[in-house]
Amino acid sequence: MLKILYCGGDRDWPAYRGALPEAIQSLGLSADVSRDHDARSVDYLVFSPAGQIRDFAPFTKARAVLSLWAGVEQIVGNPTLTQPLARMVDPGLTRGMTEWVLGHVLRHHLGIDRHLAAQATRVWDEVTVPPLASERTVGILGLGELGGAAAEALTMIGFPVVGWSRSAKSLPGVTTYSGLDGLSDTLKASQILVLLLPQTPGTQNVLNSETLALLPKGAVILNPGRGPLVDDNALLEALDSGHVAHATLDVFREEPLPHDHPYWGHPKVTVTPHIASVTRVKTASVAIAQNIARVERGEPLLNKVDRELGY
Ligand code: NAP
Repeated sequence: MLKILYCGGDRDWPAYRGALPEAIQSLGLSADVSRDHDARSVDYLVFSPAGQIRDFAPFTKARAVLSLWAGVEQIVGNPTLTQPLARMVDPGLTRGMTEWVLGHVLRHHLGIDRHLAAQATRVWDEVTVPPLASERTVGILGLGELGGAAAEALTMIGFPVVGWSRSAKSLPGVTTYSGLDGLSDTLKASQILVLLLPQTPGTQNVLNSETLALLPKGAVILNPGRGPLVDDNALLEALDSGHVAHATLDVFREEPLPHDHPYWGHPKVTVTPHIASVTRVKTASVAIAQNIARVERGEPLLNKVDRELGY
């Protein structure tokens, strides 16, 4: 019987308590999923920063730590973590992010805000008919699980999509770039820019005053990635100067976003409270069970985090 320690948040425990053992049993393994196993007996940890565990040293027998979150910046540098770490890849999480990106891209593409404002003042504003999607390029920084899925969905609607990743990539219908020159090419083309990079030392402030200046005038930014990807002062300056028309931000350096933060009241900023997508218990339990079954069969862990790269 596998001993699996759930060390995620309290809120989700009642759901995982049923879904995790069920998913593991459906793969022919038996598991005791608990919140209080003796550390030395634990085979796998199911982890999120919403739980209490910060010291992984006592888990001497554990074969892997399975993150419930896709972003692992809060655990990857933990010096006590010697066990292999897998980040979350969950079809439900991916789908949710694709829907958030599509919704917010279409809001700006169609100029929905303008019509809401016109209605509020009873103005029959028929001046602006939006261009077709094929006439508006969307750029995506980060072409991994989430960025790749968003790129695919956007191309299906007809948007030309450009994307940037660390290693060179080939995605159907997407113009892909890598490297520093590739970042410039991506930004120069992006009328709407979506940030779906992980937070690592290599991605901090990827949007700063120099890179923001490369965007076409009037570009819109969507950040469902992580707050530190953006130099906040540089973004506020770019919004105030009119170079950037709007920023829809889901993630921030400090969360919850402090009450006195200028983003809250800024007319060109939309704040969403880190809800772009979440891990879905049912599909995530299946993903975790499949990864455990792989390790038990002696196969490599899927979605293993590279400690050097930080994601
Ligand atoms: P992923 O599959 O690991 O993809 C990361 C992408 O970023 C890859 O394409 C990677 O390039 C690229 N990348 C990493 N470092 C780079 C660098 N220095 N320069 C250029 N490209 C770089 O991650 P994911 O599952 O798509 O998730 C992305 C992020 O979304 C997470 O880390 C998390 O921060 C965020 N997220 C937010 C929410 C929310 O609700 N707001 C929910 C889930 C996740 P390669 O392809 O070459 O490796």
